[in-house]
Amino acid sequence: MNSIEHNLSVIKQRIATACERSGRDVGDVKLLLATKTVPAERIQTAIELGSNLLGENKVQELKEKAPMLNESELDFNYHFIGHLQSNKIKDVVKYASCIQSVDRLSLAKKLQKRLELEDKTIDVFIQVNTSREESKFGCAPEDTLELVKQVALLDRMNIKGLMTIGLFSANEDEVRPCFQILKKLQQEIHTLNLDNVDPKELSMGMSGDLEIAIEEGATIIRVGTAVFGERQYPDSYYWNEKKPT
Ligand SMILES: *Cc1c(COP(=O)(O)O)cnc(C)c1O
Repeated sequence: MNSIEHNLSVIKQRIATACERSGRDVGDVKLLLATKTVPAERIQTAIELGSNLLGENKVQELKEKAPMLNESELDFNYHFIGHLQSNKIKDVVKYASCIQSVDRLSLAKKLQKRLELEDKTIDVFIQVNTSREESKFGCAPEDTLELVKQVALLDRMNIKGLMTIGLFSANEDEVRPCFQILKKLQQEIHTLNLDNVDPKELSMGMSGDLEIAIEEGATIIRVGTAVFGERQYPDSYYWNEKKPT
């Protein structure tokens, strides 16, 4: 067994255990592989082992790897999970089937324009900054309902879910509320009864906190390190664009 295969089986076991503990069906929790910094050939190995949901943080990496992976003729979907600058929308729309990181109306409006131009539609999630850390992107929880209402008016985007990055803390009692906030927002959006808005997916939980996220209702967990190993750059590089010094 290679290491990716081994790591995937460990993750699947962790998912199964967390589902069992919280009375959930394993079929209701999808595994998204966060593939930042991972070369295309290792990603291909994971796809061959049955992982077909991928997430990329940087447009540049998406643009490089997606065409390489497309050549393999394997079946997979790329979600964009990183901070999206509006001048890079074009490539994301080309290669991603879903953008999980829509966090502001100005970005959504630019996306709408691009999608109109290409006569396309795309699935989106609204990213919420549930930990309120300044270093993280995402819409403030109290602004989320308004953003959802506004994005719902843009007909080229289908709001399919909510996404968050939980607080980085070894203290479970600090992490769990982040996921509870996302779940509560989902319920509040549901009661708004907006046409065509049904954010069924809750994308939350990563290598370190996926069990808590599953207990709180995650339908997509995003895992990188636990499958591909440690990364060279700290995550701050991916989350607030600052190059490590
Ligand atoms: C890197 C990343 C992940 C995965 O993090 P790990 O701790 O490596 O599992 C999940 N979500 C986002 C947005 C990421 O950038």
